[in-house]
Amino acid sequence: MFKTTDPEIAVSHTGEPDTFAYTTALKRWVPIINSIATDVQSSATAKDSESASKIVESLNRLKECVVNNAPVEPLQESTEIGSQYNEEMEQLRVKYGTLEWRNGPWLFTECLLYRKIHFFFAEHAEWKDYDPFRATKRRAFESSIENALKLTDGFFLSLKPFESQSFEDLHNADPEKNKELFIEVMLLSLWGNGSDLSLMPNATDEDLQRVQAKRSLEASLKRIVDNDFDELYASLRLSAPKNGQYKQIDIVLDNSGFELYSDMLLAVYLIESKLVDQVTLHPKDIPWFVSDTLPADIVELIDMLDIAVANSSLDVKLCEAGKRLSALLKSYLKDDKLKIKKHSFWTTAHPIGRIFQYGQDLANYFYDTSDLVIFKGDLNYRKLTYDGKWARTVTFKEAIGPLATDDKRFPILSLRTCKADVCVGLSEDRALELSKEPEWTYDGSYAVVSFNAV
Ligand SMILES: [Mg+2]
Repeated sequence: MFKTTDPEIAVSHTGEPDTFAYTTALKRWVPIINSIATDVQSSATAKDSESASKIVESLNRLKECVVNNAPVEPLQESTEIGSQYNEEMEQLRVKYGTLEWRNGPWLFTECLLYRKIHFFFAEHAEWKDYDPFRATKRRAFESSIENALKLTDGFFLSLKPFESQSFEDLHNADPEKNKELFIEVMLLSLWGNGSDLSLMPNATDEDLQRVQAKRSLEASLKRIVDNDFDELYASLRLSAPKNGQYKQIDIVLDNSGFELYSDMLLAVYLIESKLVDQVTLHPKDIPWFVSDTLPADIVELIDMLDIAVANSSLDVKLCEAGKRLSALLKSYLKDDKLKIKKHSFWTTAHPIGRIFQYGQDLANYFYDTSDLVIFKGDLNYRKLTYDGKWARTVTFKEAIGPLATDDKRFPILSLRTCKADVCVGLSEDRALELSKEPEWTYDGSYAVVSFNAV
């Protein structure tokens, strides 16, 4: 029986004009389905062309359903996750009286879209593990690799103090400097979240670079509408290791490419500063929301870095920085300082507060071992806050429901650039000021750094 502990709140709905949910379903879904079909057609070989045609047929049927706003149909996938989607679908149909592609809760219908697409591939042995977004993800990272390396050069300079001091020592010697450095690295990972390909299906290199240039410290702090850096910094510095042995931070990833690269820099900083002993990355288990990270993307990013630094046209300094980063990441992976943990909970349509029902092993793992779970990006934020139509001044703590109250709760940080309707945690003044910009939560110009200690 389907169980939910969701807070009582209306949620973003694709059938409501003047919302981001409505525009997304109307304008983005069809081009994404088209681009997948194009990718399959161009990747098919003589050996798998028959199954490729069947996948394209299924994609075209799905596209027709979206275009014609047809009622959603159950998943054919006979897995536990498939049953959970179908059970919730029935509940939603009863609740709303109808459930159509562009007239239903946005979080559920959008997750369902990607889950259905996954099944079209999973049905055919030759395509079972195929990632239709891989080429797009690779191209995007290739175009930003030089900028990423420039960043890495400066990043390693800022790590210099940690060659002789730990995070704790530097804090005791120069708290302001230590905190500033901590915030800078966090901001890098935060604004790295700007590069989301599912929102920019036609982005040029220039668009991507503009997004990546938003990092300047002062300007970017002004654009953080819920900023818990002070509380977060104090909590990390003071909290004792859970098992008295080591400290661990988990990063629930969003996009691959430049964002993943910035998350890797965050991991390097956390480990090199000796703030933690171990970082665990949580990618998706199936291709998801175009640019989301799969385990293979993590390996591929290091490979692409190696290839780039072997290219003699790059500046020597940049090559050195890239080689150093690649060597560090490989050694962390070998020594288990950096781990990759895959879990199917992340590709359900469940808000994250349902982890205590539908991802119990994962919830226990966070509760037992993690000192902080960082959730990257917009989809994770929508899932943390139930994609609810909360007042802007509702606190993050309230909006995450059982994640703040369950006996097995764990510390949570959301690093998210705003690209949806939901956003909470604002002061009265900020909410009033931004209410004059009706679409301020849509384009990634603003962000949140929302923290909930246990
Ligand atoms: Mg994403």
